[in-house]
Amino acid sequence: MKKVLITGAAGFLGSHLCDRFIKEGFHVIGMDNLITGDIKNVEHLFKLKQFEFYNHDVTKFVHIPGELDYILHFASPASPIDYLKIPIQTLKVGSLGTHNLLGLAKEKKARILIASTSEVYGDPLVHPQNEEYYGNVNTIGPRGVYDEAKRFQESITMAYHTYHGIETRIVRIFNTYGPRMRLNDGRVVPAFIGQALRGEDLTIFGDGLQTRSFCYVDDLIEGIYRLLFSDYVYPVNIGNPDEITIKDFAEEIIKLTGTDQKVIYKDLPVNDPLQRQPDISKAKEVLDWEPNVFRSEGMKLTLEYFKGFSEKELSKSDHRDFLNN
Ligand code: UDP
Repeated sequence: MKKVLITGAAGFLGSHLCDRFIKEGFHVIGMDNLITGDIKNVEHLFKLKQFEFYNHDVTKFVHIPGELDYILHFASPASPIDYLKIPIQTLKVGSLGTHNLLGLAKEKKARILIASTSEVYGDPLVHPQNEEYYGNVNTIGPRGVYDEAKRFQESITMAYHTYHGIETRIVRIFNTYGPRMRLNDGRVVPAFIGQALRGEDLTIFGDGLQTRSFCYVDDLIEGIYRLLFSDYVYPVNIGNPDEITIKDFAEEIIKLTGTDQKVIYKDLPVNDPLQRQPDISKAKEVLDWEPNVFRSEGMKLTLEYFKGFSEKELSKSDHRDFLNN
């Protein structure tokens, strides 16, 4: 049985990856320090003997006994609210954490895939974003701690590949949504759904004309799975090119939830990218991958998940205080 280490295992993407690798017949070691992850996301796997869980911070030395075939590094805060609350941890997990895991990959002769992000493109001046674009990042802005950690992560990963010859893969993940997103992480999908379910107005930041392109989690996981088992070492965008303005997205949520909420406008957070859409030609070419879940379908599944929360859990999920605007 092949063994895979998944960091950030209790998080949104990490937990879906655990499920997928268990389903494919792997022995999965999930690792998380539970700062932003939730143990509930992997609790259903605890009864399986093919699953182990280590409560560990990857910025400290990582030890795994025995053989290891693959590492997927998905530990990191991943929302603007989290970067504001824990900026130093965000920098450390992308830099020191990645260094530790690359060292582990070298030691075990394991293949490692690291989770990068569309944030490496910053507030992009090229549209849609392809992998050749170098990006437009403000190093000292509120998102800088995430963006620069992820950019460093890509550099050190390529350096380990070229200098030490280890097998590396880099995925640049665009906005993804689905069950197990954190209700109060401030991202627009749980924010809008939470507000609609609480009967509150939806908060649009800025004029709402900024765009995002949302990918359903199952499509993303499929892309990552294919990338790991491909022989392509350069970064690959994975995301859904179906682009929408935040204003139109708010209207879609109001329709979907069948509520009669209004939208209200707040200030746009600093360095909030005005547009974002992946160019996925590379993923099509090297992985024969493209998304196939429409937003209408994926959002229905996501809404079902959030409807499972109690009123008390929903009421704790208001994120606006953090943003202070
Ligand atoms: N956004 C919004 N209202 C909210 C939360 C987010 O209008 O309650 C906007 C946010 O300013 C951004 C977009 O939605 O322009 C996507 O935000 P998210 O945090 O989900 O992702 P990111 O900005 O990292 O793409």
